Amino acid sequence: MFEISNEVKLDFTDVLLVPQFSSIDSRSKVNLIKTFEMPHSGAKFTSTGIIAANMDGVGTFEAAAALSEHGVMTAIHKNYSAEDLIDFFQSDDSDLSFYSMGISEADYTKFEHVKKHAPIDAVCIDVANGYMDAFYEYIARIRDENPIVTIMVGNVVTPEAVRKAYEAGADIVKLGIGPGAMCTTRLQTGVGYPQLSCIIDCVQEADNCGVFICSDGGCSQPGHVAIAYAAGADFVMLGSMLAGTDEGGGEVVDGKVMFYGMSSKTANNKHFGGLKDYRSSEGRTTMIPYKGSMDGVIKNILGGIRSTCTYTGSRTLTELPFRAKAIRVNNTHNRAYEQFTTGN
Ligand code: 5GP
Repeated sequence: MFEISNEVKLDFTDVLLVPQFSSIDSRSKVNLIKTFEMPHSGAKFTSTGIIAANMDGVGTFEAAAALSEHGVMTAIHKNYSAEDLIDFFQSDDSDLSFYSMGISEADYTKFEHVKKHAPIDAVCIDVANGYMDAFYEYIARIRDENPIVTIMVGNVVTPEAVRKAYEAGADIVKLGIGPGAMCTTRLQTGVGYPQLSCIIDCVQEADNCGVFICSDGGCSQPGHVAIAYAAGADFVMLGSMLAGTDEGGGEVVDGKVMFYGMSSKTANNKHFGGLKDYRSSEGRTTMIPYKGSMDGVIKNILGGIRSTCTYTGSRTLTELPFRAKAIRVNNTHNRAYEQFTTGN
């Protein structure tokens, strides 16, 4: 029988955080850098927990070099050649970078080849639908053969899948089905889970396991990243917020840059010789405003989160979930003159 849960599930745009009395008198006293000790690999990462998404135009080598200066990690996109990946992972620029792969035999063979020639400390194994048996079997195989490599996997949206991924060997579980700005999965399939509730509903089980969670997709403003952290996300993956920069590559035409989902028709044509007959596109293609350097973009995001910490009296991001209180709202902000905005 068709079951419906009537509990309302929320997105980042459904809540606001309430300020709290605090002794912090300057944003400069807020420390966004945390140290994470991975449950399976035992590796330690010192980072803000923000991860650039493994998308064309975001998870590039150039982005990784610019972002690591700010303690921001990068999941390198899957479309580089093995040779280019070897060069990159041999270089200092690869600090805080994940090698990304899917779960096909071709992905496995490419990974084996790259890791033979370059040190890979962290991998991101991701598929659109993390509910297939083959996904967990693949994680277990990679874990078994790479005991000290940090493994991030996704994407799932429920606590049962968080546990299953942890038990298969994941250090970080990536949450999100359908929240992405370039994603049309919810429209094409009717499947999805509002992203804020997804974090809230998974955080307890993640804590019980001792696995980390990464909220992936759905942040379009620095405040959304802050809300994801307040809800208990350890990591937050960003695609569209980091797109449109010099480091993303792509031609600037009339002040705009092309940006597309990784399962859009554009991506399928570019990397897989077109859409296979049995599939439909689950991504869109857009022209987004050119934003200049990645440095400026990430500073703006980190500045926003630092301010959230000041408003909520949190000296560190780890304190934020304990200090933050949220309210459900009808409108988040005043939209007057929004369409006439020329900058900030
Ligand atoms: P954003 O930060 O842009 O809202 O979301 C980024 C995330 O969207 C990515 O990390 C990835 O999980 C997801 N994503 C990227 N491209 C596509 C796509 O073509 N289809 C779907 N369903 N999700 C995508």
